[in-house]
Amino acid sequence: MKKFDVAIAGGGLIGGSIALELARAGLRVGLFDRQNPGQEASWAGAGILSPAPESSAMIPLVPLGKTSLSLYPKFVEMVEEISGQSAGYRPNGTLQALFTRNAREELSTIIALHHGLGLKAEPLSAQDARALEPCLNEDLEAAVLRPEEASVDNRALTCAVLEAAKRSGVEFFPERGAEAILRDGNRCRGLNLKREKIEAQWTVIAAGCFSADIEGVAKYAPVRPAKGQMVALRADDLKIERVLWSENIYLVPRNDGRILAGATVEYTGFEKYLTAGGIEKILAASIELAPRLAGARLEESWAGLRPDSPDHLPILGPTDVEGLLIATGHFRSGILLTPITAQLVREWVTQQRVSVDWERFSPLRFQSASAQGAPA
Ligand SMILES: Cc1cc2nc3c(=O)[nH]c(=O)nc-3n(C[C@H](O)[C@H](O)[C@H](O)COP(=O)(O)OP(=O)(O)OC[C@H]3O[C@@H](n4cnc5c(N)ncnc54)[C@H](O)[C@@H]3O)c2cc1C
Repeated sequence: MKKFDVAIAGGGLIGGSIALELARAGLRVGLFDRQNPGQEASWAGAGILSPAPESSAMIPLVPLGKTSLSLYPKFVEMVEEISGQSAGYRPNGTLQALFTRNAREELSTIIALHHGLGLKAEPLSAQDARALEPCLNEDLEAAVLRPEEASVDNRALTCAVLEAAKRSGVEFFPERGAEAILRDGNRCRGLNLKREKIEAQWTVIAAGCFSADIEGVAKYAPVRPAKGQMVALRADDLKIERVLWSENIYLVPRNDGRILAGATVEYTGFEKYLTAGGIEKILAASIELAPRLAGARLEESWAGLRPDSPDHLPILGPTDVEGLLIATGHFRSGILLTPITAQLVREWVTQQRVSVDWERFSPLRFQSASAQGAPA
């Protein structure tokens, strides 16, 4: 039987970064994936690094998001240095465009909300916003600049993290999916693969939206897939510096000149097919935000599956089974939350304490909800 200090199920950005952190802390780490690592949500995402809440349900996530964003420069530097690969990090800020008639009121509400949450946000007139981003629609009424936000090329980052993990001694096992956790009474002793048992002192479940399929995990990580369709455009005569948002769309510029546009949020199971309506919506909203995109080349379209939890918040930390940790449910913020997730899991495994309170995200919260008869 193979033996590790830590066995990780799932080689996306989350599992890969946890593996890297733990290997750098001197532990023997095995990373198990049911396919080639890095091909799921971490590949499909847009790479926006924004702790600003998209809805009131996401407000509890702001402190964790802010901490993770602040860790990003050092995290990227470390990953790029070890892997020798670029992660396409762009600390250029983001700009939210407002088109409504009552944009002025909306602007002061947004600015007050951001400041109340300790997030830097500056009001911009339409003229100032278009001076920063000339591609914006002339119908713009006002805008919010969030100068501290950033973006990263998540495909490049995922590749670089996996390479850095390999170079740091992590042992990779592609096409070796976990079927169940290996339990011995109230202790988790590793993973059950199809034809093999893996022994480990610590077991981390980081299998994204597929985590609940691993036997023994669903009650801690009742995740489901939230499909997101995306499009990549290229317009050589159009330059975008920052991530741009409107109510219906985001545009994310990459260092290679591509502009990513997305994304839908759909609960249609594990299928990743594109729909005419989804792509139509993305393209129409992109052109509305930056009209010159009408002439852009359509380079690629794809869909990915975000790991969503019942309360849309991540699921992080120890369970009531000794040695079993969960790190999933990152929904729309898994790329942003990668550095803090890896740090917290490393702290727990090596010191059994964490520097940031993660109780709110405990994998045990779904059991107490169902015990009280609350909807799951
Ligand atoms: C369209 C879209 C846009 C997004 N945009 C952003 C964004 O702008 N910013 C942001 O922060 N986040 C964004 N996200 C969310 C982010 O991509 C995810 O939260 C994050 O990538 C989740 O990473 P993960 O490693 O948990 O999961 P994944 O990347 O899905 O990795 C899970 C891994 O587990 C493996 N696996 C599955 N089953 C098993 C098993 N039984 N045993 C072993 N391995 C298994 C899979 O093969 C896979 O490699 C977006 C997501 C999508 C889809």
